[in-house]
Amino acid sequence: MAVKEIKTTCAYCGAGCQLMFTVDQTANKILDVRPAPGRTNDGTACLKGWYGWDYLNDPQILTKRLRKPMIRKGGKGSDLVEVEWDEAIAYTAGRLKEIKQNYGPNAIMGTGSARGPGNEANYIMQKFMRAAVGTNNVDHCARI
Ligand code: SF4
Repeated sequence: MAVKEIKTTCAYCGAGCQLMFTVDQTANKILDVRPAPGRTNDGTACLKGWYGWDYLNDPQILTKRLRKPMIRKGGKGSDLVEVEWDEAIAYTAGRLKEIKQNYGPNAIMGTGSARGPGNEANYIMQKFMRAAVGTNNVDHCARI
């Protein structure tokens, strides 16, 4: 086994934390990851940086890429069923209204994504939560 330490930048979000990977070069596998001293993280990392690397060794542990929206029509614990967007949007709007009516707007929160959808999508998400839902419960995935 040829073990090597490789310092690299976490690929999850824009914070740019430095991580130290311990790699078995013979088996081409990551053995361990720990935070490394970096300008933005100073030797710390969030949960994604610490633990979110196992898919690199085994891409099959990830769920398949979703191609269509899915709903658990039989309620909690039932199988997910593919539906069209119109049905998914109507279902989600109905459930949000129900929760707001029964428990108030602060029973709902929205979380943005640090990568992928971009600034505009995150702006729309927080605007929707504040203006349509009526809550200031907005957050960001890097705070997990
Ligand atoms: S905050 Fe977390 S996800 Fe973002 S770069 Fe740092 S360790 Fe990675």
